[in-house]
Amino acid sequence: MAIKGTDIVKKLPESGKKNCKECGLPTCFAFAMKLASGGISIDKCQYLAAEVRAELEDALAPPIKPVTIGAGANAFTIGDEQVMFRHEKTFVHQPGIAILISDNEPEPEIDSKIKKLKEIQFSWVGKTLKADMLAIQFKSGDRAKYEKLLKKALAAIDCPLLLISDDTDTLLAAHILCADRNPVLYPVNAANIDKVIVAVKAKPAIVGVKADKVEDLVPLTSKLKEHGIENIVMDPGSHDLLSAVRDQTLIRRAALKQSFRPLGYPTIGFPFFMTSDRMSEIILASMFMIKYAGIIVLSHIDEHTLLPLLAQRLNIYTDPRMPMSMEENIYPINNPDADSPVLITSNWALTYFLLSSEVEASKVPSWLLVKEAGGLGILTAWAAGKFSSDSIVPFLKKSGIESKVNHRHLVIPGRVARISGELKEGLPDWDIIIGPGDANEIPAYLPKLVKSWKQ
Ligand code: SF4
Repeated sequence: MAIKGTDIVKKLPESGKKNCKECGLPTCFAFAMKLASGGISIDKCQYLAAEVRAELEDALAPPIKPVTIGAGANAFTIGDEQVMFRHEKTFVHQPGIAILISDNEPEPEIDSKIKKLKEIQFSWVGKTLKADMLAIQFKSGDRAKYEKLLKKALAAIDCPLLLISDDTDTLLAAHILCADRNPVLYPVNAANIDKVIVAVKAKPAIVGVKADKVEDLVPLTSKLKEHGIENIVMDPGSHDLLSAVRDQTLIRRAALKQSFRPLGYPTIGFPFFMTSDRMSEIILASMFMIKYAGIIVLSHIDEHTLLPLLAQRLNIYTDPRMPMSMEENIYPINNPDADSPVLITSNWALTYFLLSSEVEASKVPSWLLVKEAGGLGILTAWAAGKFSSDSIVPFLKKSGIESKVNHRHLVIPGRVARISGELKEGLPDWDIIIGPGDANEIPAYLPKLVKSWKQ
């Protein structure tokens, strides 16, 4: 449970009565309330004793620590979740999906898996859905062979890495080779933790802690924290579906409901450790998706097994309070040029996809302006004042469309024909054309419109 402002104020200078205003707020009480809601940095009060500051920082830290896996453009963050169930608020950081390669697999199999990780992608409501990382396992007993595989992977694909080796020296040597990728080192257990702490202090990495049961994770994560290492993912060693659900739930509850810091880290799930059947593996992965893994490692991926998982992930990690929406932008369709028509719509994803697919079907090169409107459909956005002349005029001016086209014809949806007069006043250089009321009329409408301009 998060610390309350009324508890914070008691810890502030002079028990919250100093009220020097140097933090920019009128009283210590105001500072405490804002700090509790995350609206101000603790640094703004320079009068906090070091131990009070450390205590407050700890109390204010998210119950599940956010951990960024990898580096650069393909890095992703997991953890920082606030709720047990998505309907309470939202799940925040979707789990990363990893595909496993090991150094005792035949070369063609390894090549095929890397190729699939690079190439299997799906477009869905403006997003690209794909797996995220490569897990590289040491199984051959030949360190040179493992390092060769790692180097091959580094050259072939730029993605976050999970290094798996029961031989700690091999694990740490591999880490040196790819430290700039900020890899996950796994497994770190009671036997090798001291060695790993020394290595990770010298060259940071994510520590993949492994225990045989949830309770045994606690001394490991506590020890890492004592050494200032908090980029941790945890594997409670679940061996079947039932124990996996139990362990993941226990960990999430301890972190969120009891604020139990030693279990306040994201988790990692290995469905293929629990079954050798590929379909069962996907079912287990689906369970981990719901409850509550931060990384899910698969032994294989194919279009037909990955797509359901990606769709499930998208659904679960989409904020239920927010409609699916598109980014406000200019979207070119069918390679438009300076003479192509300009259409405008709101940014509800469904509106965009209906309209853009009909424009595409018309085969008329066009520019589609998508205006931010809270993710609402055209009529709802208009009724809410988010698709009005007042907001469209400045958007159109700053969008850059005027430098892309030679003409000044703007097609607005027929459903909001009533805004055409105001738009004309706001955009005196533009001819406001009232387009069809329904998107399915677009394929017939656009060719006629373009033909009429040419006459
Ligand atoms: Fe209180 Fe610190 Fe703000 Fe001064 S700077 S008002 S002591 S919280």
